[in-house]
Amino acid sequence: MANIEELWAQAKNQLSISMNITVYEVWVEKLNPVCFVDSSLVLSTITVSAKRTIEARYLDTIREAVSSVNPLITDVIITTENEKEGYLQKQSVYVEKDGFKPLESINKNKNAFLEKYTFDNFVEGKSNAYAFAACKTVADEPGVKYNPLFIYSGVGLGKTHLLHAIGNHLQKHAPYKKVLYVSAETLMNELISVIRNKSMDENNKFREKYRSVDVLMIDDIQFLIGKEATQEAFFHIFNDLYYNNRQIIITSDRAPKDLTTLEERLHTRFSWGLTVDIQAPDMETRVAILKTKAAQAKFTLSDEVAHFIAEKSTSNIREMEGLLNKIVFFSSLTNTVINTKEMANEALKDYIDDKKDAIDASDIIDAVCQYFKISSADIFSKKKTKNIVEPRMVAIYLITDLLPIPLVQIGEMFGGRDHTTIIHARDKISDEIKSNPRMKIIVMDLKNMLLNR
Ligand code: ADP
Ligand code: MG
Repeated sequence: MANIEELWAQAKNQLSISMNITVYEVWVEKLNPVCFVDSSLVLSTITVSAKRTIEARYLDTIREAVSSVNPLITDVIITTENEKEGYLQKQSVYVEKDGFKPLESINKNKNAFLEKYTFDNFVEGKSNAYAFAACKTVADEPGVKYNPLFIYSGVGLGKTHLLHAIGNHLQKHAPYKKVLYVSAETLMNELISVIRNKSMDENNKFREKYRSVDVLMIDDIQFLIGKEATQEAFFHIFNDLYYNNRQIIITSDRAPKDLTTLEERLHTRFSWGLTVDIQAPDMETRVAILKTKAAQAKFTLSDEVAHFIAEKSTSNIREMEGLLNKIVFFSSLTNTVINTKEMANEALKDYIDDKKDAIDASDIIDAVCQYFKISSADIFSKKKTKNIVEPRMVAIYLITDLLPIPLVQIGEMFGGRDHTTIIHARDKISDEIKSNPRMKIIVMDLKNMLLNR
């Protein structure tokens, strides 16, 4: 049994019978389960003197009761509320078959959430107030109130941002919770690979991965329209999690009722929780969002330019952000301050009318390969020669800089590299841009190439 609350409740139950009732009420009843460290259960009490008494007199009895509930737990550690943090940092989690493992190695999602997509960086307005509030509630107490939470909106209005914000919040405030973010597309691809491999082991891994989470976020569920096998698998995952009070959060580009060919039983389930939508933001909110984004980019944005941009793009924040990025970029490229409408117009004139398709990772990789005259096979390979390593790092840097892709996913893209490798590459190039004029020019050239495709 992996659930610490449940384990401790059962052990207490036994102790309340086997111990003297007064002793039990004074010393045991108020102990709080903190976490597991290796195969020890950590319990906290309020004062140091209580801790000493319990250790001296009752520890053996408590240990025995705990081990009898779960033989995998071989020891009990008593700590105080003030000192429990140290244990939380060393905590381990129970994994079926493998026993207790350090949390660090389990929580592979550690960097799965984009740092910049937080609640703090999300601008609240009339158009998104309900969605924002619901997401915060769910992040504070997953699985308790709005389950499932269904968020829908047009493209570029903040759904993915909110999901990452929930992930970031939980990682900070409840790091022991397993939080999984996947796009519906990834879910489908994983499932296809499981089905294709016909391996029981893969199949079990897949199920375990989804069933063991505390919070599951599926982005862009509309992708599952017409994909019956994936809907079926998702239906089972949904049930497993839902009946175990795990939080499920789903986003979509349309309301549940408009997911027309999605199975009826999924519709029914979505309606069990809360459905919220995000509308296009009003002028004031758009300007506030632009100011937040500019501050993040350390760009001084005048009111005039902010209004100019906010008027150009009214129904898609991503697009509006794209305009701001072009101005920021143009300003750094030409080394000029852009603070009037006219200058902003000049900076955007090539872009405003022909809204080019958004850049994606393959565009970046193509541009880098072309620029350095190497092949894309080389860039994804394990080769460590300098003429390959540098372009590879530059490509990674540009992807992290320009696209909202989680580091873990970038690692996967580059032949299953670890996210720490991705962080290393990103930071190395970002340092070099500051210290090495050659690198600054390389990155500028590439950005220019990408924007002028
Ligand atoms: P969606 O998933 O709905 O298509 P995203 O979450 O990808 O949209 O948002 C697109 C961009 O707009 C992101 O960069 C996001 O940070 C930004 N954005 C959207 N709404 C807000 C908001 N209210 N405050 C700050 N940024 C926002
Ligand atoms: Mg999205």
